[in-house]
Amino acid sequence: MNKDKTASIRHFLVQKLEDLRTSANHTILKLKKSDDKFADPFDQAAVEASKATELNCRDKEWHLLLDIKETILRIDRGLFGICDHCGHPISQKKLMTAPMSKLCVMCQEKIEYHHSKSKRKRRYAGRTSYNYA
Ligand SMILES: [Zn+2]
Repeated sequence: MNKDKTASIRHFLVQKLEDLRTSANHTILKLKKSDDKFADPFDQAAVEASKATELNCRDKEWHLLLDIKETILRIDRGLFGICDHCGHPISQKKLMTAPMSKLCVMCQEKIEYHHSKSKRKRRYAGRTSYNYA
């Protein structure tokens, strides 16, 4: 991938990183403000459920934030666009649609195939053991 496109992706990722940090800070402030206790247990339960949902979303965003940071580091170290598994270049088409990709299409497919194969084995093993129960 050429330097301009890589720089463009890096810029996009830095912007996304800032958006996620801003969003996380808003969540922290929101959770601190909504730390009230309610006399009605149903109201309290609703608030707690809302907080749990919010934290679950933040957890997903936290993982995204880590992936973005790692991708920015890969760009800065000249490793962006190189497959972690085989060392061959990752297609530009894949990087443009999924810039945090660490595997080429071939390696990704191999890994997904092995995962689905092991899932089928576990499912089959589960059925077998279920029959013995
Ligand atoms: Zn590969």
